[in-house]
Amino acid sequence: MNLSVLDIFKIGIGPSSSHTMGPMNATRMFCEDLVSRGLFDATRQVSVQLYGSLALTGRGHCTDRAVLLGLEGFAPETLDPDLVEPTLARIQSSQRLKLLGRHEVEFDEALDLLWLKDQVLAGHPNGMRVTAFGDGREALYSEEFYSIGGGFVLRASELGAAAGSGREVKVRYPFSSGDSLLAQCREHGLEIHELVAANELAFRPAAETEAALLRIWGVMQACVERGFKASGLLPGSLKVRRRAPKLYRTLSESREVRPLDVMDWVDAFALAVNEENAAGGKVVTAPTNGAAGIVPAVLMFYNRFEPGASDAGVLRFLYTAGAIGMLYKTNASISGAEMGCQGEVGVACSMAAGGLVAALNGSNGHVENAAEIGMEHNLGLTCDPVAGLVQIPCIERNAMGAVKAINAARLAMRGDGTHKVSLDHVIATMRQTGLDMSVIYKETSEGGLAVNVPEC
Ligand code: SF4
Repeated sequence: MNLSVLDIFKIGIGPSSSHTMGPMNATRMFCEDLVSRGLFDATRQVSVQLYGSLALTGRGHCTDRAVLLGLEGFAPETLDPDLVEPTLARIQSSQRLKLLGRHEVEFDEALDLLWLKDQVLAGHPNGMRVTAFGDGREALYSEEFYSIGGGFVLRASELGAAAGSGREVKVRYPFSSGDSLLAQCREHGLEIHELVAANELAFRPAAETEAALLRIWGVMQACVERGFKASGLLPGSLKVRRRAPKLYRTLSESREVRPLDVMDWVDAFALAVNEENAAGGKVVTAPTNGAAGIVPAVLMFYNRFEPGASDAGVLRFLYTAGAIGMLYKTNASISGAEMGCQGEVGVACSMAAGGLVAALNGSNGHVENAAEIGMEHNLGLTCDPVAGLVQIPCIERNAMGAVKAINAARLAMRGDGTHKVSLDHVIATMRQTGLDMSVIYKETSEGGLAVNVPEC
């Protein structure tokens, strides 16, 4: 099973890849299953049960809205934001929804969307069950889905070691660890980005992959621009004020150039993306939505401040960062509900650090070293979003992660590529730390800042 770089970078909507995009994908998949099983037209009613982390923090992460939109057939990548509120208002006032936008069934949200906060399905902390009922309310079909991070969704039957780790596509240079990636590069005389680009040929022609990655870069830039232009408060009980617009204005209007202005710009880029994410805007999952600001902020830094920056450098960055994301997804997890925030912000920091080295034409050894440093100093990072919203500490944490990624790249490139702790060591350590971490620090809002900070 192999992953594509386009599995790691996906265009979607905020605020959460696991709690918004995943459930939207799951309920749409359920409707498609009804069609393929010949049960679609016989369905009169559906119900959805949310378990574990989805139930505990789903309200703040807009899981309820995502579930309804997925049943109506919407997908994160193509969702028209202007249709969201009218669709939800229609469902709530009529207590009916249109499966895949064409088959009307009963849906009373109070009875048919249940938040089972004290129950966890065996497969994953982000579990949900969807059931279709026929005339007389007999169950026609029921399926468990698991939102395993980054918008990836598995049916219960697909859970397992290989499932979720990619598709059965035979790539030219398969790798399953940092060591095997470096060994393949040495054996074939390739840079990491070249090896990944060669592997992508198994998924689609080179021109299509490049166009898709440059489109992703365009969506990242547009997200920063929107974040700079927006104003006011973010949605939710915390009434968090957007900070990116003022920081952008201050930096743009300043006549002095101060030594740390570059760091302020990186902060502004990351805040802009994560404020857009918190507002439910269009972002690139990189590798998750909670951590969506780090890769764009570091790419924006490269584009604005590094002499000689080019689209070719952006592609080197994205191919390389994608390979690093694949290693974490394959050998650990990118789900905050499994690993805490080290699996989201930590992974994004590691990806961005390695990607920046590639953009700057560093060696494969420097890439691996930078990715390792980017994670090593995020180990143990907990997930404790206040009020279940992807705002505090998430937004600021992306700014910190972006600055850390740039520093990791610089530390690595000042060395000769040799180091004691390998990327594989640090991925294994992250996984073990995630397994040892108390569940209250894994996207449940039952520990840390979530219980020590008053919600209003
Ligand atoms: S604390 Fe980290 S893992 Fe948790 S929701 Fe925020 S960004 Fe995601």
